[in-house]
Amino acid sequence: MKEQVDVFSQGQSVTLDEVLENREWRSYKQNQLEDSYPEDTVVAVKLNMPGAVKNSSQIQQIFQAGWQVLLSDFDDLLIRKIILDKERKTGPEAFFIVKASLVEVKKRAISFEEQSFFGRLFDSDVMAKEDDAYQLSRTALGFKPRTCLVCGENAKACARDQRHDLADLHAVINSLYNQYFVDDSLLPVFSKEAVVKAASFGFLAEAVTNPKPGLVDPVSVGAHDDMTIYTFVDSTLALQDYFGQTFEAGQDFAGRDLKELLATIRPFGLKAEEAMIKATNGINTHKGAIFTAGILLAAYGYASRNKEIVALSDVQVIVSQMGADLVEKELAAKANAADEGALTAGQSQFHQYKLTGVRGEVQMGLRPLSEFGLKTLRESKGSDNDRLLDSLMAIAGGIEDSTLIKRAKTPAITKEMVEYVDTFRKLGGASTEEGKAYLSELDEIFISRHLSIGGAADYLILTALVGRLNGLI
Ligand SMILES: [Zn+2]
Repeated sequence: MKEQVDVFSQGQSVTLDEVLENREWRSYKQNQLEDSYPEDTVVAVKLNMPGAVKNSSQIQQIFQAGWQVLLSDFDDLLIRKIILDKERKTGPEAFFIVKASLVEVKKRAISFEEQSFFGRLFDSDVMAKEDDAYQLSRTALGFKPRTCLVCGENAKACARDQRHDLADLHAVINSLYNQYFVDDSLLPVFSKEAVVKAASFGFLAEAVTNPKPGLVDPVSVGAHDDMTIYTFVDSTLALQDYFGQTFEAGQDFAGRDLKELLATIRPFGLKAEEAMIKATNGINTHKGAIFTAGILLAAYGYASRNKEIVALSDVQVIVSQMGADLVEKELAAKANAADEGALTAGQSQFHQYKLTGVRGEVQMGLRPLSEFGLKTLRESKGSDNDRLLDSLMAIAGGIEDSTLIKRAKTPAITKEMVEYVDTFRKLGGASTEEGKAYLSELDEIFISRHLSIGGAADYLILTALVGRLNGLI
């Protein structure tokens, strides 16, 4: 049976008094904002969570996933102020002030509630102090009243008559959470600009996460004496066009054979490598990630071309179809034909050990991204840095890392890595003092042996990128 997460099991219960007090706090806050921005429209956003548990790490993930979709619906308007508090015991809350009419803002808020994946769990109050109407109801704007989560009838009537048990309501919410985050990772549709930002976030988040064993981060250059954190910043900036080009190529692709989509983005990839080399003065910071992230972005673009929410598993199928020929035709042919000195790390490993490296990973649909990266990011608690470290280690323990094998000059290093990761897990992961200290210890070991988990780092980039689109981080 598939893993099922209970959103409410680890949350803290609140009392009725606390709920009432919070209601007063919210209306005080709203009034303050209305007084400060009388000509604008105030939106107060919260979740409708039935029962006494109103916050948990999963509830915050739901809020984040919905909140970023809601804000992206207001991308074209001037947002004057944002207040966000995800940690409140009575549930996450946010406010934002938009320079737009009450009608316009209310319509967008309703369409978010009706059409986005978690919209039905959200409650957005929209108010404009100087508008004659002050507030507008759904029916005044020609929309139907809100429908019940469980039975689809009028939600107010169901609540008034207490038609459903708490268990039934929780079951619906749990099912939405599991569909979106656990059974698969659902990715809403975002603008090209938002996708470029998510990709940049992925590349920079990987770089700044620390302490990473053997890799470059702000506190250590690891086993790479030719780069610093700034090399990675420069390299990421040089890739901005590439992120947009690959995503757009996917959206515009009208062919049948997805291998042609790979052929379409290849010239962009070569240009991106050139841009990286120029920006870093000849250092290879991101060659592997340019390859995998470009393919992933093109696949996501293609999957979301009809402007509907997509499942990561579908994107991964597209990735694997794009890369269907990579191992047999390209890697095998090249590795056998070229003389050994001219081979890339992947080609030479295929030649020596029959390891398929990054091409094999693409052909298999970049599975470790979901299997280890996103799963750990979702489950891990603590700061974003700790969650990304836990994800990195889970990936490192789950893949055959061609950079690591190249540096160690033996595939036996993979088994050793699994043992390191095992020890790290037993220490409680990155959010414990012991776990953190162990990572620094590993950093020293890796530096002294000149080892680097570059392949795992590339997957961490993809994890942070997709985690950002999905709302996990
Ligand atoms: Zn109902």
